[in-house]
Amino acid sequence: MSRFAELAIYQAPVRQTFHYAVPDELADVRVTVGQLVEVSFRTARSQGIVLALSDTSPVPHVKPILDVISPEPVVTPTQIALARWMSEATMSAISACLWLMLPPGLSKRGDSLYTLLDSNALVTNSDSVEAQALALLRERGPLRAAQIDHALPRSRWRIALEPLVRQGIVAREAVLPAPAVKARTVRTARLAIPVEQVPLALTKIKSKRQAALLTLLAETGGPLDTATILEQTGADSAVIKKLAERGLIEIGEAEQWRDPLAGKTFIPAQPPTLTPAQAACWDEIRQHIDAVHAAQGNEPGQTYLLHGVTGSGKTEIYLRAIERVLAQGRQAIVLVPEIALVAQTVQRFAARFPDRLSVVHSSLSEGEQYDTWRRARAGQIDVVIGARSALFTPLPDVGLIVIDEEHDDSYKQSPPLPPPYYHARDTAIAMMDIAHGTVILGSATPDLSTAFRAHRGDIRLARLPDRIMVHRQQLAEQAQQYPIPADRFANDEAADAMSAPLPPVHVVDMRQELRSGNRTMFSRELHTALGEVLGLGEQAILFLNRRGTASFVLCRDCGYVAKCPRCEMPLTYHGGQAQLVCHYCGFLAPQPTECPECHSKRIRYFGAGTASVEEAVKAEFPQAQTIRWDRDTTQERGAHDAILERFARGDANVLIGTQMIAKGLDLPRVTLVGVVLADTALGLPDYRSGERTFQLLTQVAGRAGRSWMGGRVVMQTYQPEHYAIQAASKHDYELFYAQEIAYRRELEYPPFKRLIRFQFHYPTALQAQREAERVAETLHRRIASEQLTATELIGPAPAFFGRIDDVYHWHILAKTTDPHTLLDGFSAKQGCYVDIDPVDIL
Ligand code: ADP
Ligand code: ZN
Ligand code: ZN
Repeated sequence: MSRFAELAIYQAPVRQTFHYAVPDELADVRVTVGQLVEVSFRTARSQGIVLALSDTSPVPHVKPILDVISPEPVVTPTQIALARWMSEATMSAISACLWLMLPPGLSKRGDSLYTLLDSNALVTNSDSVEAQALALLRERGPLRAAQIDHALPRSRWRIALEPLVRQGIVAREAVLPAPAVKARTVRTARLAIPVEQVPLALTKIKSKRQAALLTLLAETGGPLDTATILEQTGADSAVIKKLAERGLIEIGEAEQWRDPLAGKTFIPAQPPTLTPAQAACWDEIRQHIDAVHAAQGNEPGQTYLLHGVTGSGKTEIYLRAIERVLAQGRQAIVLVPEIALVAQTVQRFAARFPDRLSVVHSSLSEGEQYDTWRRARAGQIDVVIGARSALFTPLPDVGLIVIDEEHDDSYKQSPPLPPPYYHARDTAIAMMDIAHGTVILGSATPDLSTAFRAHRGDIRLARLPDRIMVHRQQLAEQAQQYPIPADRFANDEAADAMSAPLPPVHVVDMRQELRSGNRTMFSRELHTALGEVLGLGEQAILFLNRRGTASFVLCRDCGYVAKCPRCEMPLTYHGGQAQLVCHYCGFLAPQPTECPECHSKRIRYFGAGTASVEEAVKAEFPQAQTIRWDRDTTQERGAHDAILERFARGDANVLIGTQMIAKGLDLPRVTLVGVVLADTALGLPDYRSGERTFQLLTQVAGRAGRSWMGGRVVMQTYQPEHYAIQAASKHDYELFYAQEIAYRRELEYPPFKRLIRFQFHYPTALQAQREAERVAETLHRRIASEQLTATELIGPAPAFFGRIDDVYHWHILAKTTDPHTLLDGFSAKQGCYVDIDPVDIL
């Protein structure tokens, strides 16, 4: 029997773990790894999680574990190993990493419930604590530990009750609060009799509405939600009730899936035959999945980068891999960037794995999250799909993690959220190393560091050729509704697939437009194209990258962007002081009145919002009906769906939007995508601006490519020669990669060196500055004492977003090869955030 336990303590914000004794009295409850227990820590009570058991303790005097809150482990052995890894990698408290894996509220409210089972039970000594506790339970019924504590203060009642628990006189169970809210469900109805019996049943029904309803359900086969039934049959709920009473139909509940494009999107339920390219990728991945299974824990984990444009058939590969892993008795996790925008993807997974899939996202209530967590732990779920936190669902044996759109920044936890600042990609890879599993990273525009690792060979690369695929059957269905040019889709080699080329992209030089006297927001080309599309009754998307507008200085004649002479980063314009500021190093310059390159006077900060684009469209095209899709119009819950629904229905013909438009959506009838200004984000002082711009433009361009009727893209820019824009317009990832990696190498940015960002958030600018300077001094001393010659500090400087909601932001960047040595022993004060490998440095 193990005598000591190594614990992570909830109240201890340190990387260190603590040892406690397993008291003899508790030996019978079986303290096991993964349990949530109660201990006293310093002077208070705290919760702990058992990480390991041992016969010896590294420290001489240890306190005992007081109670086991839940006998059933709350974390799996893999999760414990993963938390240790995360704590080290992100240099944050192990408890912070572990409690990330518990459903919210669990740790706060977990308690034990004691129930008297044998009410006749007597104990020999009627004065004993044991007798008092029994009397209490007899009198008051089942009680929580906290209540008994209150009634019998400072007694050893826990230990006294232990023998009774063992003898079955008293039951002790962990109580975790019941979920407060249930999943959003809809009422459904389905046939309760075999379809063959429907005709007979119909002869006995006089009510027309009842008959219509029964017929509808017979045709549908499966359950239908009652709202749809009522709408289609004109019946009311009384009719449903009547039929249910007659035993002809059954009323049930189903989790609600809002899909703005429901009925407009084709979801093949049967796996299609893979194309040769898909088959090649799948073969390689399958071999690893099978090898892991055959080796029973001796085969190391492996990560694949599945690189292919939207529509190239990646999801089909994910589905196969999941199927395979499930067949081996293991489970799979699928991460998607923004669950609200990917209802279609979720539905495709749900269609293939109907009963064993669960969705995890932030708009679930605590109760819903807790429910899913419990079902996962109980082995009732095989596939979890969700945002980055879905990674921590306590599935017993995860064998596969899929990360779709792996380049998306939402996979990183960043300040001002609490630590750990982990990246789901690295964490998934670590997790599958621990558990011997497979990671598939999917993207059309892989993160530069992921691509770099693939080039180096740490990650295996699987490529799907750059073109858009459609299921033959889907195309046939669409052809009945919409005019699809016969020659647009080519027969692919395999039976189910048809494919089309990526859309042509025209880059328009806005400097040229200006020179020829066009001062409007739209180039002549975009103007003409928009007119044509509207004339044909088709739809257009106008994309505006709002990040970075109205902030940087650009010459409208030559495209010159003002940059910091020290950091090579774009300077930011601050209207108030008519000054340019470098948000890396703090460099200040007066606002220029003419371009230093071409001496044009048309040099100004740049800015245009979706509202002004909308105005311009309306002014130029009377026949345009516009919808705006941006942060302002999507504040309310369900707003995304509503906007998409309206657009898909054809209530509008021009959709004007920001970033969100780029996320995976199949929009019918969109034949034109106009990028109003491609270079806005290039003006941001972030070394990843080029990468982000390329990714965004490529994704946006892909929106037109998926259209059934073909499509084209017009990209307007003042910097047509910039490689990010050039590469995006040619759908050429390699071209972009070659240039970007050279730039990173030269300036020693990731992946060649690592960054640590120290952020300082304080109520006054002065406080933020002082704290930043104090930390910079500490860091400089450490660099000197540890001889960290390859480490360089940049700043302190005010952050690009210098003030958010009355909080002032300063920051320091450290470029280093060795973040751990630099940070060892560093403890961040309140208001200071330390983010290793940040994805955002604005
Ligand atoms: P991605 O995940 O790369 O965006 P998808 O897997 O969604 O690509 O594939 C794009 C479209 O092509 C989908 O409508 C899908 O149903 C269809 N598709 C994918 N693979 C095949 C195949 N082998 N045969 C027929 N249709 C396919
Ligand atoms: Zn100029
Ligand atoms: Zn600078």
